[in-house]
Amino acid sequence: MLRETWAEIDPGCIADNLRAIRGMLPAGVKLMAVVKANGYGHGDLEAAEAARQAGADYLGVAFLEEALRLRAGGVELPILILTPIRPDQVELALARDLTLTVTGADWFRELRKRHASFAGRKLRVHVKADTGLGRIGFRTMAEWDALVPWLASPDIDVDGFYTHFATAGQVDTAYLERQARRFAKLMERSKASGIAIRHYHCAGSAAALRFPGLALDMVRIGAAMYGFHPARPAPPVELKPALSLHSTLMQVKRVRRGEYIGYDNAYRPDADEWIGTVPLGYADGWSQRMQGAAALVRGQRAQVVGKISMDQLMLRLPGPFTPGDRVTLIGRQGGERISFAELAAHIDGPAQAITTALTERVAKMYANAKEVRCPWNNAYFQQLRRVSDGSRAD
Ligand SMILES: *Cc1c(COP(=O)(O)O)cnc(C)c1O
Repeated sequence: MLRETWAEIDPGCIADNLRAIRGMLPAGVKLMAVVKANGYGHGDLEAAEAARQAGADYLGVAFLEEALRLRAGGVELPILILTPIRPDQVELALARDLTLTVTGADWFRELRKRHASFAGRKLRVHVKADTGLGRIGFRTMAEWDALVPWLASPDIDVDGFYTHFATAGQVDTAYLERQARRFAKLMERSKASGIAIRHYHCAGSAAALRFPGLALDMVRIGAAMYGFHPARPAPPVELKPALSLHSTLMQVKRVRRGEYIGYDNAYRPDADEWIGTVPLGYADGWSQRMQGAAALVRGQRAQVVGKISMDQLMLRLPGPFTPGDRVTLIGRQGGERISFAELAAHIDGPAQAITTALTERVAKMYANAKEVRCPWNNAYFQQLRRVSDGSRAD
């Protein structure tokens, strides 16, 4: 199956975004590039490499598997796993020099049943506090106090202490300020406990861009490195989206008024219309919530009509366009653009919900790249784009 649907990704944009962000942070603040979820759908190794080139100090991932993939791909930067792993997985993490998130004394109790010591090695951890997101982390002073004796052990290296904000992207900052105050109190308590802690950090993209004073020792940048930012408040630096999504018109037809388009007869034109079929569907990650969104063909907007099916969607075209015409779902054609902000508003979700949903069926074309990350249509794209190398099996 050789489908003409692909994502174009420019790692140079990712590197530029990180450099721009670093440029606005107070001097000395470290930069963690968050490359979880396959680099927010852009490719984890490619995103990690762009981050390294831009001078990132740290990488962040959600899960142990993601960190192991990076190490297997030759990534050498320090990696923080942002959720706790199981104590029985610690040996794997130690062997790959990974940094762990810890949230409570119970975890250490379990750990010590397995590892009285780490054979001369040190386990590097960041302690996570829940200051109001209600997701993971210790919540009370008493829970912190219970952690202290475990953290004081000479084979535990407390590399960091952090929290995460619930509302950093919202216009109203009251709740963020409340979380920041709570974190400041916990920081004070942690300093009084005598544990040497290297990095305090609390800001993801939105907080780091809006409130550089919250940068502390390190910021954790995900969304913004890929060029994502809510339209309001506007970002203080220029961010370039690194990904665009394209397909081609597969069939074009004249549909008479009153005929139906798509499953469940969900669309019925009330005038004669030109309808184009595009080989992109929800199994590619273009969810049914994209019904009604626009795409670009010949530099003009065309609306997705009817229900999006697994493998195809239909567009109402401005005219009798030609099969083979390029369709742009995300990105530019001429002076027109479908932005992430527009699509995010359409689905009422964040931009990263769109890119992380793209599945393996969508080939990734990298600007200046030697390879294409798609399991089955490499040969096709090599021919199409004269890409020289084969794919990495992953
Ligand atoms: C995903 C994540 C980030 C990155 O957040 P962005 O808003 O995408 O920058 C930072 N910190 C934690 C704990 C995360 O889970």
